Amino acid sequence: MKTVLMILDGLGDRPHDVLGGKTPLEAAFTPNLDKLCEHAETGIMIPYKQGLPLGTEVAHFLLFGYPIDEFPGRGIINALTRGFELKDKAAYLSTSWAYVEEEDGISIKERWVSDLSDEEVVGLMTVLPDFLDGIEFEWKQSVDVHGVLKLEGDKVSPELSDSDPFYDNSYVMKVEAFETNSENANYTANTINKYLFEVYERLKKHPINLRRIAEGKNPANFLLTKWAGKKPNLPPFKEKHGLNSAIVANGLLMRGIATLLGMDFIRYKGFENGVEIALNSDYEFIHLHTKDTDEAAHTKNPLNKVKVFERIDGEIKALVDSALRGDILLIVTGDHSTPSSGTLIHSGEPVPIMFIGKNVRIDDVKNFGERSCAKGSIRMFGSDLIQMILNLTDRAQFYNFRSGSKALNHIPKEINKLR
Ligand SMILES: [Zn+2]
Repeated sequence: MKTVLMILDGLGDRPHDVLGGKTPLEAAFTPNLDKLCEHAETGIMIPYKQGLPLGTEVAHFLLFGYPIDEFPGRGIINALTRGFELKDKAAYLSTSWAYVEEEDGISIKERWVSDLSDEEVVGLMTVLPDFLDGIEFEWKQSVDVHGVLKLEGDKVSPELSDSDPFYDNSYVMKVEAFETNSENANYTANTINKYLFEVYERLKKHPINLRRIAEGKNPANFLLTKWAGKKPNLPPFKEKHGLNSAIVANGLLMRGIATLLGMDFIRYKGFENGVEIALNSDYEFIHLHTKDTDEAAHTKNPLNKVKVFERIDGEIKALVDSALRGDILLIVTGDHSTPSSGTLIHSGEPVPIMFIGKNVRIDDVKNFGERSCAKGSIRMFGSDLIQMILNLTDRAQFYNFRSGSKALNHIPKEINKLR
């Protein structure tokens, strides 16, 4: 049986006064989601730990059944979206072009120089140093002001803290060896700090920046760095879980995750088209993803998220019909919570989840929402999901069976015959 995992990114939320004390999901008119819910086993899912906010990439890494200590860092996922061929003795960092001024440290005036054109980025990047203290540097643009910086050399370590403080009007942070005292990590951190000063020296007098200043615009005179990671050594999704799989989405980040885990990636044109692809393709596991819910929450207007839920609800009719006919196992949930008000970027509440399919134990919950699903029968972690899917689709292997040289969570499709 085919499984469709529909993720509404940043699904969970908090109660808002403007919604009469409801969350956006509770306030939205979602007859299709509620119809599914009537035929579902429902509950709540803790993405990793109670109260701990996660980013989309690490939340998906857990949902796809990979251990968190093997997460290679978002810098790696960004590098994969840019087509970097990952090297062993290298670290990959995410970067943004920023405007800074020297005053008792390096003060950040604009964290992402928002009106920087692609042509200007191409012009500025030519002066970035490509070699310093035995380390090779290479920078590639990912999207707009964001990019990936590769450091390569015998002494390169990815165990590095961020220079990007993640808040506006703050200061560039010193890069330090992160959670280690290793010589290579300290060496790499010191070299990046030197590199960042050199970048600043070169960029502040660059003709493009002098022109921008003359035009009254902010110069892009610094490269903020974060999320260092190294080449991972992960078994592909198919090998790990025995399932042919695809991610059906529209974002670059999802493409990076698909590449990281050896899953196919299909880009949809609108969510309704995504539903169509999910229903009409032959994969055993399809992850259908929308970022719109998360982005609506980031506007910090709960009404925007309500509207997105209502729009999506109208686009999933075919999926609802298929699930209610029992053709597929459908799971609807989110990867994390994104609060539509307050200062947090993401928050650490659990998310509602529902399973619809022929083997599920339907419970009494009739409306898909955070508090209604909390009365459902399931309490689970994000890392439980794949095992539950294998079980509900009759693929789970009896614990401790040794069918081959590796421990498996699924019944293998082929065995090694004794001949
Ligand atoms: Zn988000």
